[in-house]
Amino acid sequence: MSLIVQKFGGSSVADAESIMRVARRIVATRDAGNDVVVAVSAMGDTTDELVDLAHQITDSPDPREMDMLLTTGERISMALLAMAIKSLGHEARSFTGSQAGMMTDAQHGAARIVGVTPERVQEALSEGAVAIVAGFQGFNRDSRDITTLGRGGSDTTAVALAAALNADVCEIYTDVDGVFTADPRVVPMAHKIDVVTSEEMLELAAAGAKVLHIRAVEYARRHGVTLHVRSSFADKEGTIVVSARGENMEEPIITGVAGDLSEAKITVIGVPDIPGKAAEIFTIVAGTGANIDMIVQNVSVETTGLTDISFTLPKTDGQKVLAALREKQESVGFVELAYDENIGKLSVVGGGMRTNAGVSAQLFTALYDAGINIEMISTSEIRISIVTRAELLKDAMKVVHTAFGLDGDSEAVVYAGTGR
Ligand code: ASP
Ligand code: MG
Repeated sequence: MSLIVQKFGGSSVADAESIMRVARRIVATRDAGNDVVVAVSAMGDTTDELVDLAHQITDSPDPREMDMLLTTGERISMALLAMAIKSLGHEARSFTGSQAGMMTDAQHGAARIVGVTPERVQEALSEGAVAIVAGFQGFNRDSRDITTLGRGGSDTTAVALAAALNADVCEIYTDVDGVFTADPRVVPMAHKIDVVTSEEMLELAAAGAKVLHIRAVEYARRHGVTLHVRSSFADKEGTIVVSARGENMEEPIITGVAGDLSEAKITVIGVPDIPGKAAEIFTIVAGTGANIDMIVQNVSVETTGLTDISFTLPKTDGQKVLAALREKQESVGFVELAYDENIGKLSVVGGGMRTNAGVSAQLFTALYDAGINIEMISTSEIRISIVTRAELLKDAMKVVHTAFGLDGDSEAVVYAGTGR
C-alpha cells in the first residue's frame, strides 16, 4: 500500500462537474489500494477575483485581512471535493491549513512553512478516509493568525504534506500533460518532458515557467520528495521531477525555453565611473526590498567619465525603486533615470549546457536570423537569458524552440485554464 499526495490546481476544480471528475480520479487511486491525501486550490480564477474585489475596496488591503479573504477560496473547494467523494460512497474529510498542522511564520501573503504536524490527516487516513487539505494556507502560532504561502502556494502545501507524511510520490495535477519544453499556450509545438531534474526545474520556474511553484520544487529537493506533474484531464504519465539524473540517462543540452513578461528595466544614466557607485546604487535598491535580476553596465564614455547601469526587476517593484533612486540622485550624482516596462525575457535552460560549448552562439544566431534584437544577456551554469522587446517575446520563443530542435511532432494539448 502506497501513500500518495495529489494536488489539484484551480483549473482542475473550476466547476461542479470538474470537482466530480477529480473526485472520481481520487476514488480510483483509493480503489487501487492507496492511501490518498489531497491538496486543493481554489476553484478556477477565484483567488484572482478575490484580489480584484479587495482592490475595489482599497488600494492597500490590510495583509492580515487579505489572507483571511484569500484562504476562503480553498475552503470552498475542499468542502465541495469532500462532499463529491462521499457522494461516490467513499469517506473523505476536509481540513483547513491550520487543522492540517501547516505551521508558518507570520509573513502574511508570503509565509514560509516552519513545521508540519499533520495528526488529523493521519487520523483520517487510519480511519480509511481520504484527507483533503486546503492549499496555500497555514497558521502562525505566535500571532494565532491565518497566513498564505504566496500565489500558487498550493503546490508547496502538497509537497510539505508529502514530506511530513513520508509519501511515496507527490502528484501535481494540472491542465496540461506535464512540464513542457515551453509554455504550450505560447509555443504550440512544445512537447512534454518525461524527466527533468529539480535543478533545471528551479531555473525554468525562476525564468518564468509557471507550471510549478518555485518553492515547491525547492522543498521537494530538500526533502527528497519525488514529484509527478500530470494532467487531471487525461490518464497519461506526466513529468517526473528527480533530484539527479541516473547515470545512463542522457542529459539534453536544452531542456526548455521560458518567457517572462513580468519584469521591467531601469537604466541609471550618467553615473560617474568611479569605484563605489554601483555599490551605492544597489544599496539603495536593496533597501526597498526589491529583487533585481539582470545587471548591465556599459563602458564609460572617455570624454565624460560617465557610464549607464541597467537592471531588471519585477514590474511591481518598479515605482518604489524609482522613487528611492530619485531621492538619492544628488548624492549618487547620476544624470537621469529611464524606466521601461515593455521588455520580455527569454531563457533557455539545460543541464547539458555545462559540458557543451556554443550554446550561446546558437541562441544568438537563431535570434539574429529572426531579426530579433538582444538588449541584455545574463547566464548561469545551466541557463542563458536575454532581454528583448515585449512584443517580440512570443516569436523569439518559437524561433529558439525550433532552433534547438525542441519542436514536437504535433501541437500540445491545453485542456483548460485561462492561463491567468
Ligand atoms: N489559489 C491560490 C492561487 O491562485 C493558490 C494556488 O492556486 O496554488 O494563487
Ligand atoms: Mg490558482
